[in-house]
Amino acid sequence: MPSRGWGGGVVCIHFDSGPAPDGAGFPGKNPEKPAKAGPEPVYLTFDTGHMAIAPFVAEVLHRQDVRVTFFAANEATKEGDGALGSHWAPWWAARGREGHAFASHTFDHAYWRGDLPARGGEPLRFRVRPTAGAQAGRDLVWTADDYRADIARAADRLRAITGVAPLPLWRAPAASTRRPCWPQRARAAGRT
Ligand SMILES: [Zn+2]
Repeated sequence: MPSRGWGGGVVCIHFDSGPAPDGAGFPGKNPEKPAKAGPEPVYLTFDTGHMAIAPFVAEVLHRQDVRVTFFAANEATKEGDGALGSHWAPWWAARGREGHAFASHTFDHAYWRGDLPARGGEPLRFRVRPTAGAQAGRDLVWTADDYRADIARAADRLRAITGVAPLPLWRAPAASTRRPCWPQRARAAGRT
């Protein structure tokens, strides 16, 4: 499904516990680009979050014969050792056999919090706050390479436990990224 590109609608379903913007930026939510009517494909994406309702979602998708893209981070789970840990690995393998697609949501569910002032000749640094992993809840300073490594770590783990090559996509935790920068966009739109 994803190999057919992103020409159709994208429905992003978020059952994570973290804050999220109001959906701005996705096709169909942008008044300048209304969703097209007609037989175009709709791409469903799921953020599996803490996995609590992931089995129910998977059961419905299986029953309805629908394939989606799962974005995952190694978030803390009620059962087992994290969403991408050994407890949930068989669940992910089953989704791989069902033909779903997978992509990274960063490994430690790291929220981008803001750039630090540029220092001449040095790589950009920015503040992040992971909500998973050993550094959960702490404000950290990362470079782009640090962030890319966290994206790749989740993608590598998904590849290992699903047997499927992850898509070259990434879903930013809480949709928090440098560009577009949600708070500034919201202010510009008069929504704050
Ligand atoms: Zn999330």
